Amino acid sequence: MNPFLRGAPNHWGGVQRLEIRNFLCGWCEKNVASDFGLSFGSDPRSEIRICPNCLCPVFFSPVGDAGRPRPKLGARVAGLPTEVEALFEEVRLAASAGANTAAVTVARTLLLRMAWERGAPKSISAFKPAVEWLVENGHVAKSAKEFLDHVKDVGNKSVHEEFVANAHDSELVVLLLVNVLRALYENAHLIKLAASR
Ligand SMILES: [Zn+2]
Repeated sequence: MNPFLRGAPNHWGGVQRLEIRNFLCGWCEKNVASDFGLSFGSDPRSEIRICPNCLCPVFFSPVGDAGRPRPKLGARVAGLPTEVEALFEEVRLAASAGANTAAVTVARTLLLRMAWERGAPKSISAFKPAVEWLVENGHVAKSAKEFLDHVKDVGNKSVHEEFVANAHDSELVVLLLVNVLRALYENAHLIKLAASR
């Protein structure tokens, strides 16, 4: 449960009506337009805005960044099994915080968990056979194998070589995972939702 939920944006003491500001909320990951917040007077760019969707406070500083907490890299994927979702969110959080080597290493772990979740035998405990199993058993399209191979290879380099991943490495890994996870889990989830209406 969101600890900030209280029922209305103006439950925060001293909030003012301000000009509308559009932003991507780092808490709920929705694009929102907020006209509630706290302005710090001397520099109008320093302010706290209350997200009208989740009612959480987002801080903006004069350097004009995207607000704190920062929106996580990539996108939320619907329909993920619990453990896959937990690991994927770790990858996104680490990449967003600049912990790039941590992000690509956990991304490699995620490949194995995906294979197990889809029914691969636990005797498959290495990443190359896990990717091959996912493709050979039709869970991932042949055309997407190179995406998973890239995630595996960057993760391998971070573990076995003198390699420190940078922001480009982790961002690409997150984007590739979004595409693969959507195809593997989200499409089926959306069809199931439509059928239940
Ligand atoms: Zn929000």
